[in-house]
Amino acid sequence: MDTTPIRIPAELVAKLRQAESVAVLTGAGISAESGVPTFRDAQTGLWARYNPEELATPEAFQRNPRLVWEWYEWRRQLVSQAEPNPGHLALVEMERRAPRFTLITQNVDGLHRRAGSRRVIELHGNIVRTICSRERLVVEQWEETGEKPPRCPRCGGFLRPDVVWFGEMLPAHALQAAIEAAREAQIFFSVGTSAVVQPAASLPFEAVRHGATLVEINLEETPVTPMAHYVLRGPAGVVLPALVEATWPPDV
Ligand code: NAD
Repeated sequence: MDTTPIRIPAELVAKLRQAESVAVLTGAGISAESGVPTFRDAQTGLWARYNPEELATPEAFQRNPRLVWEWYEWRRQLVSQAEPNPGHLALVEMERRAPRFTLITQNVDGLHRRAGSRRVIELHGNIVRTICSRERLVVEQWEETGEKPPRCPRCGGFLRPDVVWFGEMLPAHALQAAIEAAREAQIFFSVGTSAVVQPAASLPFEAVRHGATLVEINLEETPVTPMAHYVLRGPAGVVLPALVEATWPPDV
């Protein structure tokens, strides 16, 4: 394991300390250190045979609703056992310090809210919530008859997780709020995302077009890297706390 301490550029620290508005886009990478696998490393164990891009689609649900429901049951269970990590917590602190702050996440695990972040845009929904696949309304309770997926108590349609599947539209208000936050941000962070799933992947570019300083935090190179003003290579759970501590030392 590489134990080289993360170097946080002093110039970035100064910019962040003075920034009036900060936006952060997170992806599956920020939850990896909580034990929630990214899509790329999710193919372990029982589910190794399945490709997430073939399960997280409306077509897959139509073809085999039971399989898709069970895959989400497995993921829901994983998430319920996971805890927010120092990366999530550093973003809670950043929100407390920055005058205007928006956290935009592609994650469906709810860990940002559980960590204490308040202004969170969940672009792809949340697997903890369940909706009726016909009526699209949130369903809190249903009868467990053993049938999978269970049925909507109102209309009898199949229940499904309240997430945005590949090929589905994002909730318009959430996407609009995310675009506005990207446009007004003086500093925009792209954290733990492969930046290939649209339209979220376009947000860092939108921010730069509107004058933001772009910072990438990731283990690997992504399509964002060539555009980023600062690239911090390392795990989000190490880099984000180091950045927050350098910017707002505990005794200030
Ligand atoms: P992705 O799986 O495509 O990419 C993950 C990225 O995180 C990669 O670039 C990887 O290098 C980076 N990474 C991995 N570990 C890291 C760490 N410790 N610190 C920093 N970076 C790290 O994920 P994505 O870009 O979010 O897009 C895939 C889609 O998958 C999204 O739509 C999302 O909804 C969904 N997804 C969500 C979850 C979750 O809610 N936790 C998990 C898996 C997939």
